[in-house]
Amino acid sequence: MCGIVGFIGKGNPIQAVIDGLRKLEYRGYDSAGLGWIDRQGLKTFRSVGRVDNLSAGIDAKAEASLAIGHTRWATHGRPAEENAHPHLDPTGRIAVVHNGIIENWAALRAEMEALGNAFRSETDTEVIAHLVAREYAEGCKGDLLKAVEKVLPRLDGTFALGIISSDQPGLIVAARRGSPLVAGLGDGFNMIASDAMPIAPFTSKVVYLEDNQAVALRSGSVEVRKDGRKADFSISEV
Ligand code: GLU
Repeated sequence: MCGIVGFIGKGNPIQAVIDGLRKLEYRGYDSAGLGWIDRQGLKTFRSVGRVDNLSAGIDAKAEASLAIGHTRWATHGRPAEENAHPHLDPTGRIAVVHNGIIENWAALRAEMEALGNAFRSETDTEVIAHLVAREYAEGCKGDLLKAVEKVLPRLDGTFALGIISSDQPGLIVAARRGSPLVAGLGDGFNMIASDAMPIAPFTSKVVYLEDNQAVALRSGSVEVRKDGRKADFSISEV
């Protein structure tokens, strides 16, 4: 189970994500991590154990355009800092948080290793960052949403994903299949989370994403997608 939180736009993304992770602690986890983008680029911090260990190592008041966070319940690779999320691509420009299990991770990892990619973790998740980075650099030429949409059909298994790129400080791409994901719609900010609880202190407007949907979150807009196209969505009140 475990959880994902993301925040983009007006407010304090790092603080909102740490607070949100605390609201998801009930789901169980063994480690936690945060990724954010500030003026210098993409940063991450990860730690084993409680969200308190994580928040002790991060300046929650620091400026950021966005943040994504994760509580991990290890399925592939022991609970350790190097296996905690976010996971990065080899160049450190794409960061991924993931709940769920990628069944075909070994084959995908072998494919990436054959291309010369080195892996830093034992997780099934890291391969997603490598695949997205490849699409991002090649077929999709710097379009993170397109790159993610290209990779999703290659993944067997379950996922709730939050993905960011240091080149696109105004965008969080999220997607789900089999694992829950809710978008929160604010005024000048938007959020993503595994359930509505991290979102509720900020806004009452939520969108319960359906299986196989992706969503592009910007500070002023939320675009729900299915099969590479815009999809209709309905807003619920919490
Ligand atoms: N399978 C991933 C891992 O072991 C994600 C586990 C989770 O859902 O937290 O890192």
